[in-house]
Amino acid sequence: MRLRQAWNQCSNLFAAHKVENGRATARLLLMHLMQYTFTQFITSLEQELAPAAIAELQQLSQQIVLGKPLQYITGQQEFMGLNFDVDENVLIPRPETELLVSAVLTKLNCHNQIKIADIGTGSGAVIISLATKIKQAVCTAVDISKAALAVARKNARRHQVAERITFLQGDLLNPLLPAVEKFHIIVSNPPYLSTDRMKSLPLNVRQEPALALYGGVDGLDCYRRLTADAPKLLKNGGHLLVEIDCNQAKAVASLFKANKFLEIEILSDYAGLDRIVVGKCQK
Ligand code: GLN
Repeated sequence: MRLRQAWNQCSNLFAAHKVENGRATARLLLMHLMQYTFTQFITSLEQELAPAAIAELQQLSQQIVLGKPLQYITGQQEFMGLNFDVDENVLIPRPETELLVSAVLTKLNCHNQIKIADIGTGSGAVIISLATKIKQAVCTAVDISKAALAVARKNARRHQVAERITFLQGDLLNPLLPAVEKFHIIVSNPPYLSTDRMKSLPLNVRQEPALALYGGVDGLDCYRRLTADAPKLLKNGGHLLVEIDCNQAKAVASLFKANKFLEIEILSDYAGLDRIVVGKCQK
């Protein structure tokens, strides 16, 4: 079988099983299998595939049909123009989370040695992107999962920022309390899906760690704790920035208000959905 035919067969299989972006997913799977760049792939369409490659393609495409995200097969996801290692222990970084990184960048007014904490770091995509962009940043990344922290540490080494990020295992802000040092920025993409939303997750999202997705009955548990504890850890004038589910903006903004944050803003993502809440800590 030629590469072109394998691509078509795989695309048809994905279309029949309603895999999102089936043709692109089939191409990316084949590129991974053949270790090809896009150009190598496009210029090799008439190449005959070895029987072993065909067998592997069949096996991997079945895994995708059963809901395994492509990124857990390739072990890679691009975020903010950087490639990150991912595995089943971490959430796959989403394009809309890039907005969280951009929002942090707009809140910085050229501090020397800016101190940033990322709570629930997962793959480390947010804090590592920030560390690569702000060379003088001193960063802390917290996650409750030891396995996730191992992925984040690997990514930090991959992007040469490991010496500027302290990784701590623990539950939300707990490992930073009582506050010994204060942060200019606390950023978090916490688990925020409600019990109801967890029940209606697409097959592929169900393969991601529930620990990174489930935010309690109404999805707001982490925001209650973050908004209550962050003021103890932020400098005067520092900011808390969180990603939210699109229907949580009002509730999360109220929590910011109840905990005396000022200049509360709700930012929308590229789809026009509420996605980020920001507040300033004034003491
Ligand atoms: N945005 C993710 C989803 O919709 C959820 C991520 C999270 O809970 N932080 O699947």
